[in-house]
Amino acid sequence: MRTEGTPGAGLGVPSAIPRRGIEAWRARLVWSGVDWIDDGVVACRHGRVAWIGRTSAWRRTGADAVDLGEVALLRGFVDAHAHLDLSHARIEERAVFERWVADVVALRRTAQGDASSAIAAGEDLLLAGGCTSVADIDGGARLRDGRGARLRTLAFVEVLDAHDARRREDASRRLARAGEREGRLVRAVSPHAPHTASAGLLRRAARACVPLQIHCAESEAEVEWMIDGTGPFAAWLGASPRRAPLEHLLRAGALRPGTTLVHANHLDPERDGPLLARRGVALVHCPGTHRWFARAAFPFAAWRRRGVRVVLGTDSLASNDALDCRHEAALAMDTLRASPVEALRMLGDEAEDALGRPFGRTGLGLGARADFAAHRTTAAADAALEEVLRSRQSAALVWIAGAQVLLCGTDRDASAPA
Ligand SMILES: [Zn+2]
Repeated sequence: MRTEGTPGAGLGVPSAIPRRGIEAWRARLVWSGVDWIDDGVVACRHGRVAWIGRTSAWRRTGADAVDLGEVALLRGFVDAHAHLDLSHARIEERAVFERWVADVVALRRTAQGDASSAIAAGEDLLLAGGCTSVADIDGGARLRDGRGARLRTLAFVEVLDAHDARRREDASRRLARAGEREGRLVRAVSPHAPHTASAGLLRRAARACVPLQIHCAESEAEVEWMIDGTGPFAAWLGASPRRAPLEHLLRAGALRPGTTLVHANHLDPERDGPLLARRGVALVHCPGTHRWFARAAFPFAAWRRRGVRVVLGTDSLASNDALDCRHEAALAMDTLRASPVEALRMLGDEAEDALGRPFGRTGLGLGARADFAAHRTTAAADAALEEVLRSRQSAALVWIAGAQVLLCGTDRDASAPA
């Protein structure tokens, strides 16, 4: 093989790539990480990106590439917060958050047996939108079997004790599962929220040395109960710690890199931003859920000014109209004034960093685990990213670890390279 240029830089002729075991795909547009490569090729080997660059450079080696035609290859999205077991949930309540919570709890009680089909349906929807990694809250009485996971799944095992010592034994059993790996699934821990997780439980979760995801300051009722012990939650929780949600998490050692706080509607960027930035804690904003409950505008620019990372999640169909990362990207562009590139970062590298990179680096970077999707688009390069992010059409093809994933729901084989 002739050598010329820098392998993987996207411009030179690939050098020193053994042909055995390599597969390459050509597309009209290929996202390099910062911009589109017009007429590009992605080559993968052993589940990782071995080369990315122009088709002309690739062809000079005499190597083949499967021509995908008029599509754009984009990294697989990372959904930083989901409840896949609620993918069958359809809840009408939007006006009163506490009533919505009660509806979800009631639905969970009656639909436990249905969880695996709901999870499969949720996976189908996410994959069809070009998503390849998901941070999923596993709140089921029995933890889900990771061997069936079709996407890379950071499964946050949900634990809570409602500040009631009698409920800690079950939480301890669940905490013991942290760090397990099954197929494409890795288990981490989600202490549900400050008002449902005592300081002792939080401390034990923090010591598990796995990523933590915590719903935090989602509602005024949560903040009221945490500080004053009053309000709608007082009837079913134990003794209030009488401190603000973030103070509760800080004292228990739960604010550290790899911790993501979901929603954070009632945190304040000016008051809380410096602490979160210093502690390397990221926020997960779910634009669809935010719109569902008609929340006040999320202060995205202020969080960013304070150095706090914000990433995006779909949450679930119990509080969203779609289960599609592109839907969240479009809302982020419309409601947060994020640029298409910013929205992509919040659903890509930034999300991986926020979640503690449980699968290393995925996407289309050289050496990354080759998770990507082909999206149909006829737009020119300067408009293609926004068009893809606003599209509701199913992705044409999706790859995880360089292996194509079927989008029809029939692929249950997670034995491909991780
Ligand atoms: Zn949630």
